[in-house]
Amino acid sequence: MRKDRDKEKEAPTEWHHLSTEHALKRQQARMTGLSQHEAEQRHAKYGPNRLPEAARRSALMRFLQQFHNILIYVLLGSATITALLNHWMDTGVILAVVFVNAVIGYLQEGKAEKAMDAIRHMLAPQANVIRDGERICIKGEQLVPGDVVLLEAGDKVPADLRLFTTHGLSVQEAILTGESVPVIKHIAAVAADAPLGDRSCMAFSGTLVTAGQGQGLVVRTGAQTEIGRISGLLSEVETLTTPLVAQMGVFAKWLTILILLLAALLLAFGYFVAHYPFTEMFLAVVGLSVAAIPEGLPAVLTITLAIGVQAMARRNAIVRRLPAIETLGSVSVICTDKTGTLTRNEMMVASVLDHWHMFTIEGDGYKPEGTLLLENSPVFPSEHHVLEELARAATLCNDARLREQDGVWHVEGDPMEGALLALAGKMNMDVRKEQSVWTRTDSIPFDSKYRFMATLNHDHDHHAFIFVKGAPERILAMCDNQRSADGHTEALDYTYWNTKAESVAALGQRVLAFAVKSVSPEHTVLEHSDVEDSLTLIGMTGMIDPPRPEAIVAVAECHQAGIRVKMITGDHAKTAAAIGQRIGLQNPDKVLTGADLDQMEDATLSQSVLDCDIFARTSPEHKLRLVMALQSHGMTVAMTGDGVNDAPALKRSDAGIAMGRKGSEAAKEAAELVLADDNFASIAAAVREGRTVYDNLKKVISWTLPTNAGEAMTIILALLLGMTLPITPVQILWVNLITAVTLGIALAFEPTEPTTMRRPPRPRHEPLLSGHLVWHIVLVSTLFSCGVFGIYHYAVGQGYPIELARTMALNTLVVMEIFQLFFIRNIHGTSLTWDAVKGTKVVWAVVLAVTVAQFAITYLPPLQTVFATAPIPFWDDVLIIGIGIALFVIIETEKQIRLAIMR
Ligand code: ADP
Ligand code: MG
Repeated sequence: MRKDRDKEKEAPTEWHHLSTEHALKRQQARMTGLSQHEAEQRHAKYGPNRLPEAARRSALMRFLQQFHNILIYVLLGSATITALLNHWMDTGVILAVVFVNAVIGYLQEGKAEKAMDAIRHMLAPQANVIRDGERICIKGEQLVPGDVVLLEAGDKVPADLRLFTTHGLSVQEAILTGESVPVIKHIAAVAADAPLGDRSCMAFSGTLVTAGQGQGLVVRTGAQTEIGRISGLLSEVETLTTPLVAQMGVFAKWLTILILLLAALLLAFGYFVAHYPFTEMFLAVVGLSVAAIPEGLPAVLTITLAIGVQAMARRNAIVRRLPAIETLGSVSVICTDKTGTLTRNEMMVASVLDHWHMFTIEGDGYKPEGTLLLENSPVFPSEHHVLEELARAATLCNDARLREQDGVWHVEGDPMEGALLALAGKMNMDVRKEQSVWTRTDSIPFDSKYRFMATLNHDHDHHAFIFVKGAPERILAMCDNQRSADGHTEALDYTYWNTKAESVAALGQRVLAFAVKSVSPEHTVLEHSDVEDSLTLIGMTGMIDPPRPEAIVAVAECHQAGIRVKMITGDHAKTAAAIGQRIGLQNPDKVLTGADLDQMEDATLSQSVLDCDIFARTSPEHKLRLVMALQSHGMTVAMTGDGVNDAPALKRSDAGIAMGRKGSEAAKEAAELVLADDNFASIAAAVREGRTVYDNLKKVISWTLPTNAGEAMTIILALLLGMTLPITPVQILWVNLITAVTLGIALAFEPTEPTTMRRPPRPRHEPLLSGHLVWHIVLVSTLFSCGVFGIYHYAVGQGYPIELARTMALNTLVVMEIFQLFFIRNIHGTSLTWDAVKGTKVVWAVVLAVTVAQFAITYLPPLQTVFATAPIPFWDDVLIIGIGIALFVIIETEKQIRLAIMR
């Protein structure tokens, strides 16, 4: 095995130097593809077409790495010193803190990795291959040498291919050659020593098809491919972070350093000025540092993100670039495609036009059977000469396939073309036979810029025809003639067709025109100039594509959330307006077309763009201008796209969203977010999740910082005022330990608040550490100190022993933290609804855990000795809870006043 591989390294086959016939022979393959059986055998032999993954760190290494952290070093130092001072209790608790921290860090990393793995799995590329003579779409991983792969603009080449047909195929090979200008591909073999960039008959794995179509034979897969040889490894997993979280990480680091400095100062002050004994002072300062440093914060923020990423993935929104999670929450306008996103993309031809009639078609999905009606009475297709020719054009100028599975018909390829095949079936045409009689010699693939597609077909009797289908205005401009009822040609009645096309479009149907031109049989290469004029119009079809009901709901939800929804489509203005109306866009009466946009200066555009919600007959370049026009108003723009030409607009928008199913790899690569189901409702869901994640990050921070500040302030005040500590250092360590692993994490799991999608979008650059939060920190930490000192004084005043007074202070602190948690859960609304009080399972689980822990430390004798606590009398327990409630009432009232003022 090993030897084989070495041999292959010595003399790799120079596929680019072989003719296509040789290449096929060498691979024991055919241009019509492998059979499924052969493919499976080869898969077993060659293994999956996948680059080896980077070796993962072992679980132990990952765990040990959790200790590599400045705070942990400080803590370990303190543990050593306390041990030297024979304060074993403190040493034990500090080590427990260290250990628990490491466990949490370890678990959150696991969760983060799982989230990222899931994403990578969902984004695994697909490949179009011919197996058993059929075009099918498979996972890129399943490709084997000998497979025949179809390429088209926007695809990522799934393996190294020796090309054997190309139509204007060009490929961007920057990842291999560094050259960003696409290279044009041919099929002729090149010199054996041609450098990689000149091997124009090869398409290399990982490169992007920028234009044209082609077919190639898979010659190398997995690690054997050129990219496999260069990098050898899958690109590293992206780390789970966003600007906000990264910023908080830096903040936490500086805060740690600041707190350590303060602690050192305090130590010096206490020892030299206030003359506390060193040991006591040292322990207090350690307790203070641990209390004040938000050691768990970065980990909990990462957990919050990981949960958000998973929640979005569950809702079919796959986050490719993590900062997008934050951006999504602040989106103020969504520009979306129509076909497939707002509509179902389940097309059916509903009307057919010839020069005399308008037929209506009945049917069910893609089933190629159904009745043809003329003024509500059934007719036979054979009675109308033009229909046969229309069906032929629809069949030949078509790249899709229909497949029956358990009685249900499916489309492989473009649903619109699938609908045309179904139509041909309804007109009694044998699609397979027609396609084999009329072989396709060349084609101009559909391009949303030109809005038509053309094929050149030859039959066995030396006839050659060009068939064209596309947007009606586009096709009408190419035609001089039209098909007459008797099968001859007559001069084109432009007005008739134009009016008809508009009236069908106004029904919300997508109109497509078909034309034909006969050429000499020697003609074998199709150029744009061949279809510019003198075509004969055959007829038109109108297709229905119903709106998705869930999209209608989602659009309404977006409007409630202060997000404007704009539809950008290549379709006819009338079709777009009709669908816009049904979808519930805010202003469905105003439509701007691509031609309108072309005539506008940027300044005019930026004004018109605000109140227009429908842009029709646009090409991808318009999307870029629209994004920029909207951004000029300071809006945060989400833009969807699928084609290779949409990439610039996706990159430029604040949140680029690519379609997972019909989208090209090029679009996915440019996007921040990929929709697994191409559904508008998933965009709305992603925005909702984005807002939720941002809220939760904010909640985690809003809970952690004041809590830490409150704990720290208690100790600092006592030290500075020369009082006995109301809570001992070991007890502070305990509180930190027990609350950090419970209350501190609960907020990462918070569900969406009911008001989340009823709030206007958050301003894009709103700082998180706002005046608001600072005020909240000051208020809460002051109240915490008041509560702790208050109960301590009360207890001392009652003549309680100091152990009991401290136990009461300790419990008060924890109770206040719990109440603060309930307060934070609803920072945007009221916390006094039944739902708010009911909380979530996570919240009650952590509250239960903390309560049990507090009961244990208060009432269990062994723990009483360890922590120097004493049992609290029942009525004082009630008092402590009363203090928690009082704290809650104060901060909730403050919040309600603030919310009322803001409203
Ligand atoms: P959309 O924004 O609705 O996806 P497209 O850019 O895909 O619009 O299509 C724009 C127009 O181009 C359609 O209205 C139709 O007239 C025409 N068209 C779309 N797909 C094809 C195709 N495969 N062949 C010919 N014409 C097409
Ligand atoms: Mg489209």
